[in-house]
Amino acid sequence: MNKLIVFDLDGTLTESKQPLDSEMASLVAKLLAVTKVAVVSGGALPQFLKQVFARLPNDANFANLYLLPISGAALYEFCEVGLGKIYEERLSEKEAHTIETAMREAAKETGLINFSEPAWGERIEYRGGQVTMSALGQEAPLAEKKAWDPDHAKRRKLQAAIAARLPEFSVGMGGATTIDVTKRGIDKAYGIRQLCKRLGIPESEALYVGDELMAGGNDEAVYKTAAQTKSVKNPAETAKIIKSLLLN
Ligand SMILES: [Mg+2]
Repeated sequence: MNKLIVFDLDGTLTESKQPLDSEMASLVAKLLAVTKVAVVSGGALPQFLKQVFARLPNDANFANLYLLPISGAALYEFCEVGLGKIYEERLSEKEAHTIETAMREAAKETGLINFSEPAWGERIEYRGGQVTMSALGQEAPLAEKKAWDPDHAKRRKLQAAIAARLPEFSVGMGGATTIDVTKRGIDKAYGIRQLCKRLGIPESEALYVGDELMAGGNDEAVYKTAAQTKSVKNPAETAKIIKSLLLN
């Protein structure tokens, strides 16, 4: 059994922005009983609490659970008094404004997002350590999100157009319709490295499970670490991997 198992959230433990289903919640709880488990995603902490924490059984071993919201820009762990923040690499309001301007310009230049059309919720969200642009809005229905950019082509164009304007930041693809911008050098690899250091676990003894490890995918940065990786297509495959890990 690996000393640390790190999961991507959307597309890996759950469908986009959905809570863990009861089977996955019980499998994660079984892992927590025997090893350390971390979850990393572009979402902010409240999203993690809703999708993961609230779904785990009350008697789960939360001392083994680590949360890396905003693509590793922050790290939380559970202690006796509850959830504790270990670090957060925040963007200033001025930086967030610079990023928002670049996002709006890139949307216009590529013609892929028209900000004057209605959206499902906010299109641009400041999450402390990250600014996220959601093409259809934060609250878009899952089916609409999945249909918007199935081959990543739109996100790739938006990513390139934003990155060209923001050389001093990291610009990455987030979920099915989102582009995430963080301080330069902040990505899932950064988060995993910080966590391994804190736990004194060599990166090579950690296992990363994600659905976007392909080139350009939002898990690709993980290859910068020495962590072992397992690629999955969906949560059902992740459930199979957890079951086989539990047999060891
Ligand atoms: Mg994913």
